[in-house]
Amino acid sequence: MKILFASAEAYPLAKVGGLGDVAGSLPKALRALGHDVRIVLPRYGTIQGPHEEVARFSVRTGDARTEAGLRSARIGDVPVYLVDKPDLYDRPKVYEYDDDGKRFGFFCKAILDLIPAADFWPDVIHTNDWHSALVPAFLRSAMAEDPRFRRIGTVLTIHNLLHQGLFPRALFDWLGLPEDLWTPEGAEFYGQLNFMKAGIVCADFVNTVSPTYAKEIQTPEFGEGLDGLLRSRSTKLSGILNGIDYDVWNPAKDPFLAQKYSKSTVDKKRADKAALQKEAGLPLDPKRPLIGYVSRVTAQKGFDILIDALPDILDLGIQFVLLGTGEKKYEDPVSQLARTRSDLIVWLKYDEALAHRIYAGSDFFLMPSKFEPCGLGQMISLRYGTIPIVRSTGGLADTVLDVSQHPSKGNGFAFQDYTREALLEAVQRAARFYEAGKGWKSVVHRGMSADLSWKASALQYVALYEKAHRSVNASET
Ligand code: ADP
Repeated sequence: MKILFASAEAYPLAKVGGLGDVAGSLPKALRALGHDVRIVLPRYGTIQGPHEEVARFSVRTGDARTEAGLRSARIGDVPVYLVDKPDLYDRPKVYEYDDDGKRFGFFCKAILDLIPAADFWPDVIHTNDWHSALVPAFLRSAMAEDPRFRRIGTVLTIHNLLHQGLFPRALFDWLGLPEDLWTPEGAEFYGQLNFMKAGIVCADFVNTVSPTYAKEIQTPEFGEGLDGLLRSRSTKLSGILNGIDYDVWNPAKDPFLAQKYSKSTVDKKRADKAALQKEAGLPLDPKRPLIGYVSRVTAQKGFDILIDALPDILDLGIQFVLLGTGEKKYEDPVSQLARTRSDLIVWLKYDEALAHRIYAGSDFFLMPSKFEPCGLGQMISLRYGTIPIVRSTGGLADTVLDVSQHPSKGNGFAFQDYTREALLEAVQRAARFYEAGKGWKSVVHRGMSADLSWKASALQYVALYEKAHRSVNASET
């Protein structure tokens, strides 16, 4: 099949979080299955390189026509189209600008307008999160006259329902979206334009990144105001678990590690723990368990209960390293605690190489998320023989099975309630398991043996693409 994969991030060209990992790796897996997948991204200021301009094209929004450049790059063997519009994208960050609505609204329209210029007519456009979620709406309105566009099916993947892309009505007008979409059943959401909602309404199929999250978002607790809509669309909604990129996340070949290791040489992982302790300035005590944490510093990632539980976690004799950036309201108390506790090291930055060393050098990896669409950290840590401690929600519930409850199948420690006490209890069980030593190696082996690659999930995406393509082509006749 021919698939145009639209995303605001794709590793290594642009990554803020898990979306970047997915967009950098799923297309590679689809290509390995023989499909012609191409990625489309905005050309941010951080995307360096001589990227050849292959065409100039005109993007029509409302009555306006704006010229943009089309550049070509690659991620592995996957061709990448870069939408070049310097005043919108030539900036140091991917998101968090006042004009993000215009930046990504324009991107959505550009994705369609570049197709004739690139002369790449996909069977399916796969849109991801709110940044590209208006594509199906444009496809069924502005482009609907052209039969070549009518044959394109659409899939929207929700990587995180929390971020929906809400903007004033004026943006809806500027983009030239059709008036009949401005209803509570369409793109309107309490008086604002909602990109994600428009995608859920207009895409042929919608999926999320784990089966459990696909169920959760149909409830008021996780639905972020869209649970009713999602329930009404439940027949076109599914969950496909993310995989991880085995080229990037492989302890046997990882160039960032002090010591490479595999399942059969996992004892060598000790050297990575020592190297991490050294790098962090922690005492080189092999007997003390070391917990790693790599994440955005936000409420979603469990910071409310983590900050409350941290002093008690450290009192268990545990060493803790934390790498992340995010909200000041969580960054401040955690770095304040680190100033008074020598066994807590906090790095408030984004550092890809250090993240690899934490995944390899820790004994445990903590993810106490309030909600988690899929989560990659727990999968990466399993692959690195680092035992995850997670709150059982979303993709964490689909990937981590509690060792105490399932001694012969468990691969980590899990807790249910979103409370400081439940988190602490799980960490205590993990610490006791570490001390006892019994069964440690078999749990590590189990984690390292699991297939967390894209192999199975890429096939599920192909099946979804086929359904999306069939749905529009059947209605043609
Ligand atoms: P989310 O997409 O919600 O941020 P995921 O668990 O799906 O969370 O993916 C997070 C990805 O971003 C992982 O690859 C993780 O290693 C990486 N990451 C998060 N914060 C940092 C950081 N400060 N430095 C390096 N990598 C980070």
